[in-house]
Amino acid sequence: MKIAIDDIKASPKELSYVEEVEELNTRLGRGGARDYRLPTGLTVDVTHYRAGLEVFFHGVLHAQVLGSCARCLEEYAFGLDYPFAFVLMPRVAAGPRPTTLSEEDMALSYYEGDEIDLTPLVHEQTMLALPTRPLCRETCRGLCSRCGANLNAGPCDCQEVPADGRLAVLHALVRGK
Ligand SMILES: [Zn+2]
Ligand SMILES: [Zn+2]
Repeated sequence: MKIAIDDIKASPKELSYVEEVEELNTRLGRGGARDYRLPTGLTVDVTHYRAGLEVFFHGVLHAQVLGSCARCLEEYAFGLDYPFAFVLMPRVAAGPRPTTLSEEDMALSYYEGDEIDLTPLVHEQTMLALPTRPLCRETCRGLCSRCGANLNAGPCDCQEVPADGRLAVLHALVRGK
């Protein structure tokens, strides 16, 4: 989504649109470490305004996300609602960071030319919004390291026989002497 600089005024303007996600999914798949994809579009509710040369954006990203659990490898779906805020300065005017903004408050970027392409900025925010490690749930029990069964479905046969069963018997014999 490209916005002409001239359309950004001092008074805030709200905008709601849907970003294509094909390129984002390609980025998410790269490297393989972050196993997420967006099956549908990314809805962006954004408000923009300017103060001098600085252009401000804030809003919320909404998306349905499919993750592949790092522990049990099952695919799971979740909704993402992520508030974001960033400010852009013209690259030519880029000097010291404005003192009114702290690092935590807002991401600072730059714009060049007569329009701002929101797409890469929105993609960046989406990547930030996704958990570092995909887990279908915090308590996911994962797969049995011996038989590969999904332990969320219940214990597998391997777990019923303690691995050190024979050793325990031996210790009992030694102690009983
Ligand atoms: Zn899982
Ligand atoms: Zn097992």
